[in-house]
Amino acid sequence: MTQDIYDKVMTLAKRRGYIYPSFEIYGGVAGFYSYGPLGTLLKHNIEDLWRKIYVLQENCIEIDTPTITPYDVLKASGHVDEFTDLTVNCSKCKKSYKIEDIIDKNITVKDAIKNDEIRCPTCGSRLQDIHPVNLMFSTIIGSGNGRQAFLRPETAQGIFTDFHLLYRHVREKIPFGVIQIGRGYRNEISPRQGVIRLREFSMAEAEIFFDPLDKNHPKFDNVKDKKLYIFDNKKEMHISLEEALEKKIIRNQALAYYMYITQEFLLTIGIDPKRFRFRKHAPDELAHYATECWDAEVFSKRFGWIECVGIADRSAYDINAHIQASGTDMHALRKLGEAKTVEVKRIIPKMDTLGPLFKEKAGRIKKILENMEPLLDTNKITVELDGKTIEIPENCYEVVKKKEKITGEKFIPHVIEPSYGIDRIFYCILEHNYVETKKKGEKYHVLRLSPLIAPIKTGVFPLTNDEKLVRIAREVDQKLRKNGIVTYYDDNGSIGRRYARMDEIGTPFCITIDHNTTIDNTVTIRDRDTTRQERKKIEKLPGFFKKHCLIV
Ligand code: AMP
Repeated sequence: MTQDIYDKVMTLAKRRGYIYPSFEIYGGVAGFYSYGPLGTLLKHNIEDLWRKIYVLQENCIEIDTPTITPYDVLKASGHVDEFTDLTVNCSKCKKSYKIEDIIDKNITVKDAIKNDEIRCPTCGSRLQDIHPVNLMFSTIIGSGNGRQAFLRPETAQGIFTDFHLLYRHVREKIPFGVIQIGRGYRNEISPRQGVIRLREFSMAEAEIFFDPLDKNHPKFDNVKDKKLYIFDNKKEMHISLEEALEKKIIRNQALAYYMYITQEFLLTIGIDPKRFRFRKHAPDELAHYATECWDAEVFSKRFGWIECVGIADRSAYDINAHIQASGTDMHALRKLGEAKTVEVKRIIPKMDTLGPLFKEKAGRIKKILENMEPLLDTNKITVELDGKTIEIPENCYEVVKKKEKITGEKFIPHVIEPSYGIDRIFYCILEHNYVETKKKGEKYHVLRLSPLIAPIKTGVFPLTNDEKLVRIAREVDQKLRKNGIVTYYDDNGSIGRRYARMDEIGTPFCITIDHNTTIDNTVTIRDRDTTRQERKKIEKLPGFFKKHCLIV
């Protein structure tokens, strides 16, 4: 049987320790894959480069929140009710399908249902009873009457529910961005696309908070002339960010800016620009929280165009939902040029009732009440004290209306979210950089991974097993490792075989220690892609690798 590119890449990936099907000894489970030793290094390098861009270059802050998320959070965010796929079961062959997977790509789900054109891909029966199925994995926190919860379907909610703390952390300046890298879980309906549709996968998400009155990006001018690969209204375009905004193809600077950052990132790590584009979501395709969304799509010979990154304008949707559901004040403040007088509600504590009721805590409660933002849509007032929520009875305070001078206006920030699927990016990099040639009549594989993300940066080889060469090679190997360069020491087989092993796993350089090394302290460095070799002094090696390979 002839193998397509996916089979070839996955065969290599398994053989050389990039990707393993998980739990294979028990038959495997669709939608679960593990990273082997090289895959783990490569994945970390992709994530580290991403982190470098968002934290160092874009000044975002990073947090790390639980993957198990209580029901209330995901009810408020809309995931309990809306995070569904339309699904259909075949009563004859008992299989389940996601509708989108079995209808013609050129028609919408609505039309397919209307035309009654949905048939089982396995047995050909006409399929009915289309129903939404929620994609979240549910669990219980605690035993007995524990709390219902889910494994998070995205990392974003962990950021939104901490918004007020993060806003304070950045000293109340907007715009600001928060990132999170971690696992997301989606109980996909019978995933059939190998590593492309997983049930547990890694996401790298950035939530950038903007004032809704100003979705301009402070650094937009630096990139306005750069060009984006865009596919809109069935047309391919290569146009500048500025033009895309003028023509209203993209609606705001913030979205356009993060599209550019995303394109740069993907092309830097080895996605082929000819197999890359941004596609805008049609209105009926938008997620429940999004007002505009662009997918960074990468072309795969097996799967066609794959969404690797979603860049969405989530507007005020999430923060508003959490304010409503939790009662927490998560507004931001827009400073006014001039102070103005407005009517506000204030709480006046009554110490004659508050004092006897709360005793030694009364003083602190009084202070909290006086400084409280009177979010008085409900009549219930609670304060947080010593880790407890205390309800304050109505006879302990009075609410008065007052005129006050204010210097700022409250608003709910809007969110621009670039959300990256690390595993899909990982696979596409392998596919785009897999090269098959022949050497001396034999199949020869090269993974042309960028030195920035390659798991191993260099092979280190003594030319022969001469004791002196072996000793120097080991010293070179250790010297590089001490400098943070991942090496692979190999003294087994011909130099050609050793090169071949390194080429196949994507190692960009190989160092050989030969007899000249013992005379002048130089080694050869071979470049994987040009196969050219040059001599370099051993003392120059750490500098050479840091320049070409390190993400610092
Ligand atoms: P979304 O929140 O649906 O826009 O997803 C964000 C990103 O996560 C997508 O662009 C994909 O790269 C990735 N992703 C979503 N679902 C899956 C999945 N089932 N398996 C692997 N990656 C996924």
